[in-house]
Amino acid sequence: MPTRSFCDVTLDELEALRPPGSAKHLLGRLHRVTRWVQDARTGERGPEMGKELRTFVEERFHFRLPEIVARNPSGDGATKLLLKLDDGATVETVHMPRAVKNPRVTLCISSQVGCAMGCTFCRTAEMGLVRSLRPDEIVGQVLATMLALGPDDPGRVSLVFMGMGEPLHASAIDNVKRAIEIMCEESGLGLAPMRITVSTSGLVPGIESLAKSKSRPCLALSLNATTDEARARIMPVTKRHGLDELRAALLAYPVRPHEKITVEYVLLAGVNDTRADAERIAAFSSGYRSVVNVIPWNAYPTGDFVRPEDDAASAFVTMLHELGCLVTVRRSRGQDVGGACGQLATDATRTKAPKKLAVVPG
Ligand code: SAH
Ligand code: SF4
Repeated sequence: MPTRSFCDVTLDELEALRPPGSAKHLLGRLHRVTRWVQDARTGERGPEMGKELRTFVEERFHFRLPEIVARNPSGDGATKLLLKLDDGATVETVHMPRAVKNPRVTLCISSQVGCAMGCTFCRTAEMGLVRSLRPDEIVGQVLATMLALGPDDPGRVSLVFMGMGEPLHASAIDNVKRAIEIMCEESGLGLAPMRITVSTSGLVPGIESLAKSKSRPCLALSLNATTDEARARIMPVTKRHGLDELRAALLAYPVRPHEKITVEYVLLAGVNDTRADAERIAAFSSGYRSVVNVIPWNAYPTGDFVRPEDDAASAFVTMLHELGCLVTVRRSRGQDVGGACGQLATDATRTKAPKKLAVVPG
């Protein structure tokens, strides 16, 4: 049985293997047909593929995807999926169709089993870091979700790396970059980098590396506090990369004509919601094209914060508007099934004691 996944091969790599009759258009077609892993699932044969080429590929690659072991539909149309990876570890993915009029679907995907960053308001942090996902597991997560819940057309998919894990962690970033590159290949899924957003807690070397990647996605930074001191209390990563360094990294991040950098701000009642905070958010998010995304904190049983009242959240948003920020409020989806931002954690590892914050080189 081949050990390499077809979810982890680029067209160039496939061509370099010199399959029989390996004209690029033929391999492109193979890539396209198998992107649905139809062959593996239904035994369907792609058109004009030729048995020789097919056999060559099947001898070298397997077509297994992460297994969906639970589906949790929310009352708001989102569905939280639990996916089992080949070593038994599990991650969560959230499928969020937009309004009926707009047929797009946003998939909130995981980059790691658990997370090493130790943010005090986030449930995933309690798991510690178990491991990062391989590129084929990231691509497979997207394919398995699309096969189960749609859409069929990858042109209608947006991806946000806002599930479990820190996608720019040293052990994750290369896999995340490669998975994005594979998913953006025209002959494969053909996703647009503009429709992919990578959210980070603020690992500057990772932001710099992402900026240089071939299929550069959009960037979101989880700001969440407005002074180094306050931020270090809830996001230990601040001790490594302070706010000045972070802002400099955002100023240097290349953006396309209509692209903005998202500055996420989890609103914690009584912790980070003063007028002075709003003023500092406005200053932090100036000088580059940005949009501030306010996320009222989502509660979970062991979480020790208070979700702001709707009125208080609205007042904070109004303040930001008045200070000149472009602001959106995240209506976190899937709250009733524990699928909203910061609520993700999987049972398989929930009993483990949180690990210490791993020190990332650089
Ligand atoms: N590790 C990355 C991406 C995953 S977290 C990051 O931190 O950016 C995705 C978003 O959820 C981040 O903006 C994070 O600040 C936010 N978040 C974490 N816990 C939350 C909670 N309990 N309620 C609301 N948002 C939360
Ligand atoms: Fe990790 Fe992001 Fe949660 Fe922080 S907020 S612990 S970086 S997943």
